[in-house]
Amino acid sequence: MADDAERGGAERGGAERGGAERGGAERGGAERGGADAVDVAVVGAGIVGLATAYRLLQRRPDLRVAVLDKEPAVAAHQSSHNSGVLHSGVYYAPGSLKADLCRRGKRAVEGFAERHGIPVERCGKVIVAVRPDELGRLRGLHERAAANGLAGLRMLGPEELREREPHAAGLRALLVPETAVVDFAEVARALAAEVVAAGGRLVLGTAVQATEPHRTGAVLRTDAGALHARAAIACAGLHSDRFVDPPHDAEERILPFRGDYYTLVPEARSLCRGLIYPVPDPALPFLGVHFTRRVDGSVWAGPNAVLALAREGYGRTTFRWRDVREMAAFPGLWRLGRRWWRTGAAEVWRDASRSAFLRSLRRYVPEVERRHLSFGPSGVRAQAVRADGSMVDDFSIVSRGRRVVVRNAPSPAATASLAIGDRLAVMMEAVLGGTGAGGGADGR
Ligand SMILES: Cc1cc2nc3c(=O)[nH]c(=O)nc-3n(C[C@H](O)[C@H](O)[C@H](O)COP(=O)(O)OP(=O)(O)OC[C@H]3O[C@@H](n4cnc5c(N)ncnc54)[C@H](O)[C@@H]3O)c2cc1C
Repeated sequence: MADDAERGGAERGGAERGGAERGGAERGGAERGGADAVDVAVVGAGIVGLATAYRLLQRRPDLRVAVLDKEPAVAAHQSSHNSGVLHSGVYYAPGSLKADLCRRGKRAVEGFAERHGIPVERCGKVIVAVRPDELGRLRGLHERAAANGLAGLRMLGPEELREREPHAAGLRALLVPETAVVDFAEVARALAAEVVAAGGRLVLGTAVQATEPHRTGAVLRTDAGALHARAAIACAGLHSDRFVDPPHDAEERILPFRGDYYTLVPEARSLCRGLIYPVPDPALPFLGVHFTRRVDGSVWAGPNAVLALAREGYGRTTFRWRDVREMAAFPGLWRLGRRWWRTGAAEVWRDASRSAFLRSLRRYVPEVERRHLSFGPSGVRAQAVRADGSMVDDFSIVSRGRRVVVRNAPSPAATASLAIGDRLAVMMEAVLGGTGAGGGADGR
């Protein structure tokens, strides 16, 4: 496990100001490792890619590390379009990567944020059962959370729930005091500044088309030429499957699920003190629309989950032909649709109808009214789906020799980012060894 000690010297926001380059890959397609070659190239300057580069440089300050992103700024996608909840590990199967890395990652992100002056609000959350048939599942969550080692868990009756959340209604609620909120985009920017301060390169505005095996380790084909690396890690979020061999892997694909938020107008923010969550459907990876009080005091309600027509499709009508064509050709989409068409139809309806959205919210906070809601931001989740239509629940990392791909990193990957980064840094050390010889067993 890397030591997360502050190494100092990094200026907040420095990545954006001075340390980042545009199009820094070797121009002209030269195929030799040279002055421009790096030891490790990380594709994706989201929170996972940046945490990985940060951890790698902490463990091996001698390595030349570059982080490439197609966008002109870091954390342009999922890492800045999320609820901002530092999850405590309630939902995840004990022994899963999610359970382990969420717990360790939460502690690490909290420590990192505190050392960098980034506010973390430990507001706790309540998971509220509003129907008798949800009580069994709520008890199951309590047991799971206890098995995952969460502290201070308590079942609340309706009165105790109202003491904590005066405007919430429910039959029973699970109190999870460890849950916190943070601005993950701010964490990502601080990570980027640390990477640059440690000698890493941020190469922004440079799309990577492929990472290919090469006798030097790996070669990245970018829109600015080729970049040679001794090893490559793809942390490409919504595009992660495009880095898995073979390029159009039929086994598993990323499907983009858009989630819209409403925000509560300032005079209605007092309706929610902390985090109010529903009891989720255990068969689905999404937690259901919830109320989130953010670190800036605003309150978001959402997100819903509808299939997006573009991997980075934040608007209802955003459409990208390549993404739609690939989705349509993927049998997993149709099998998923056959299994979940009722849920999907309800989500589409709730997406189109503010009244339907409001009805979902009122089950938990009956006083919320239409006039309290204004349109908020949207995010698009990268969810890996198998060809049989099942959704990949756990985090998944695929390694092919010196090329590693983070294939499925949905929520709580922002919480878990530094622990995922630790894991990838250890893998990289094993792959690179001291001799530069190839290695790294395939596997997940
Ligand atoms: C609506 C929503 C709510 C969420 N809520 C939470 C929450 O409360 N708590 C939590 O822990 N998690 C939450 N998550 C999940 C969390 O945000 C993600 O798991 C996490 O941000 C993933 O980080 P990432 O770095 O893997 O992906 P991203 O942040 O998506 O980063 C991937 C990067 O790769 C770049 N990239 C992709 N392809 C290429 C290419 N070909 N060339 C160069 N660059 C490329 C992209 O531009 C992008 O910057 C939520 C997600 C969503 C969408």
